[in-house]
Amino acid sequence: MSDQVNPFKLAQDQFDQVAEQMGLEQSVREMLRWPLREFRFQLPVRMDDGSIRVFFGFRVQHNDARGPAKGGIRFAANETLDTVRALATWMTWKCAVADIPLGGGKGGVVVDPASLSTSEKERLCREWIDAIWKNLGPRNDVPAPDVGTTPQMMGWMMDEYSKLRGEYVPGVITGKPIGSGGSLGRTAATGFGVVVTVREALRHLGLNAAGRTASIQGFGNVAQYAARTFIEMLGGRVLCISCWDRNDRTAYTYTHENGVDPYFLQSITDQYGTVNQEQAKKAGYVIEDGDAWRSKDVDVLIPAAVEGVITRENVEQISPKVKILAEGANGPTTLDADRVLKQRGIFVIPDFLCNAGGVTCSYFEQVQNDMNYYWTEEEVLQKLDLKMAGAFKGVLEKALEKKLYMRDAAYWVAIGRVEMAMRLRGWL
Ligand code: GLU
Repeated sequence: MSDQVNPFKLAQDQFDQVAEQMGLEQSVREMLRWPLREFRFQLPVRMDDGSIRVFFGFRVQHNDARGPAKGGIRFAANETLDTVRALATWMTWKCAVADIPLGGGKGGVVVDPASLSTSEKERLCREWIDAIWKNLGPRNDVPAPDVGTTPQMMGWMMDEYSKLRGEYVPGVITGKPIGSGGSLGRTAATGFGVVVTVREALRHLGLNAAGRTASIQGFGNVAQYAARTFIEMLGGRVLCISCWDRNDRTAYTYTHENGVDPYFLQSITDQYGTVNQEQAKKAGYVIEDGDAWRSKDVDVLIPAAVEGVITRENVEQISPKVKILAEGANGPTTLDADRVLKQRGIFVIPDFLCNAGGVTCSYFEQVQNDMNYYWTEEEVLQKLDLKMAGAFKGVLEKALEKKLYMRDAAYWVAIGRVEMAMRLRGWL
C-alpha cells in the first residue's frame, strides 16, 4: 500500500461519489459509510522460546442486511483498523454485486506471518478465535483466508471454534483445507473468476480472447491462478508477473519473451511468494524493477497484489495499448488515478466485481458444509463461471443503461441491493 493512501478514506470517497449520483437518502448514506460493528482485541501468544508476545487483532462487520458478514482475515505487518474497515466495506459490495446472500466483514492481525514458526502461527490463530468466537458463526459472521493466511490456518480456526461450541461447525469459516470441510476449486476460485470477467469484457469490446497479452502484479494465490487461467481458458500469454522479494525487501518484475510459465514460477516460489532469482534467470527470465509490470505493452493489466498501487503519480505509465484493467486486488486504484483511467477510456473491471470469485466459492463451500455433500471441482468451477459471468452482465447492463463508468455501475448495483435488503428488513 502506498503511504499516502488511506484505504478507508478511499472506500468512503468512492461510496460518497456514487451515493450522490444515485441520490441516496441521508439515512442510507449514514448506515453504509461506516461499519455496523467493530472489534479490536489483544492476542497474547506464547512464543516457542517461552516468552509472551502481544498482538493486536481486528474484526469489522460492515453490513449484514443481506446475510451473515463474510470476509477474510489478513495477517499483515501494516494492518490497521482503517485497512480492515475498508476491506470490510468492499466485502459488502462484493457479495452484493455477486448476488450471494452474505454481507461484508474483514479481520486482521498486525503481524508479519513469516516471522512466526508453524506452532506460533497455530497458537495465534486459535487465540484469534478465542477472542472473537462469540461474534462469529455460520449465521453471524464467516471469516476466510486473505493476505498472509492459509487454508491450514482456517482449519485450526474451525477446530478451535468447534471445540468452544462443543460440536463440529465447518460452516463457521471458509477456505478450509480439502478433507477438512474445504471446497474443491476454492484455491483457484479468485484468479479463475478474474479471468472469467476478463473474458466477458473482451467479448463486450468485440475482441478475440486468443493471443491476448497480460501483465500481472503479484504472484500470490490470486495472481498465480489468474495467470494459469488466462493462458488455459483464454489461450492468452502472460508477459510478466511482478512480486515482492522478502530477502531484498523490494519487488521485481519477471518477464519472459515467450510468456511466463506459471507452473514453473510456482515451483521456484517459496510459501511467502518470493521467487528464486537464480533459477528464474537460468530459465531465461529477465528481472526488472518492481514497477515495470505497469508500463508493459499488453492488452490486459491485472493488479493482483495489494491496495493503492495505481496512483495519480504513476497512472500515466500505463501503455496506450492497454484495453482492460482487471482489478484482481482489493482497492488497487486511487481515486485520482481512477479519474485518469475514466478519461482515457480504459475498460475497468472494478475490484469487488473482478475478484468476487473467491467469496462466491466460499459461499459454495458453506452450502456444501450445510448439505454435508461435496461437489466435484468441475461442478464448482462451472457454477462459479455462471455466477461471475452473471455478475459481470448485471453491472455492464447498468453501465450501458445509465451511461456509467464500470466502477460506478458496480457500486450502483451493489448499493441498490443492500439498500433494498435494509428496507425489506425494516431497518430504514
Ligand atoms: N479474502 C477474499 C476476498 O477478499 C475472500 C473472502 C471470503 O471468501 O470470504 O474476497
